[in-house]
Amino acid sequence: LPPAFLVGLIGSGIQASRSPALHEAEGAAQGFRYLYRLFDLDVLGGGVESLPRLLELAEALGFAGLNITHPCKQAVLPLLHEVSADARALGAVNTVVLRGGRRIGHNTDHSGFAEGFRRGLPDAAMGEVVQLGAGGAGAAVAHAALTLGTGRLTLLDRDADRAEALAAQLNAHFGAGRARAATDIAAAMRGADGLIHATPTGMAKYPGLPLPEELLHPGLWVAEVVYVPLETALLRAARARGCRVVDGGGMAVFQAVGAFRLFTGAEPDAERMLRHFQRM
Ligand code: NAD
Repeated sequence: LPPAFLVGLIGSGIQASRSPALHEAEGAAQGFRYLYRLFDLDVLGGGVESLPRLLELAEALGFAGLNITHPCKQAVLPLLHEVSADARALGAVNTVVLRGGRRIGHNTDHSGFAEGFRRGLPDAAMGEVVQLGAGGAGAAVAHAALTLGTGRLTLLDRDADRAEALAAQLNAHFGAGRARAATDIAAAMRGADGLIHATPTGMAKYPGLPLPEELLHPGLWVAEVVYVPLETALLRAARARGCRVVDGGGMAVFQAVGAFRLFTGAEPDAERMLRHFQRM
């Protein structure tokens, strides 16, 4: 029989997740028996306090691993035996490998963003980068941006405390002065090489642009994390102004590529997974 992998996702409100289809199609293409199940806290009727029981259940059923999403990415940390250095620095885990009674945490959100970014915007200038949004996705992509060599990252969030807290966390890890929080978007955008967008603005529930359109100056690159829809109002406006852009699909696919690799030990075909994602 071909190798068999049982994996899943724990989170809240995950019925529309593309991960099952993305993983299972790649598993089938590799000739595996590969099942990706959902543990939706909204359906099961619980919160993060269900995590210990769900992890035990998955282990008892022989799961090879789990993806972890909102609201569990931080809460899962104390339940793990080992955590990769980058996930530890980020304070968030989105992938848990279950092997030999041990639970090993990783974070493929930041590596996924980095991979999508390198692919979509090779040779992007990284001196001064502005990032909007310092929530869950924001923490992962800010970590990726500094790992990719951003000279100075300026963080803005509607909730100024979040931007401050993330800047302090990044400076503690990457060195003083690499990140700062700001509130004046026009001043921050002056002289910026690139803009990373990590708020939910542009999704159907939060339409519109996250900043005044005239701040998108020619020569700026724009990296989006929203991937439903793939073509946001921000990307449309940026393209119209001649900016190079990368959409949120790369991050979504490459976090799955990384998780598949960790779960199976096999090398996924990233291009095949990208093509599959684009057809969804
Ligand atoms: P979150 O709620 O944790 O964080 C969003 C942050 O944006 C909050 O701190 C909020 O205060 C701030 N914010 C909202 N509107 C703003 C505005 N107009 N200006 C400034 N700040 C604003 O959410 P999250 O989990 O970080 O998700 C953000 C987006 O990223 C969602 O659209 C999500 O779908 C997307 N996402 C994409 C991927 C991917 O793989 N591409 C992965 C994770 C999340």
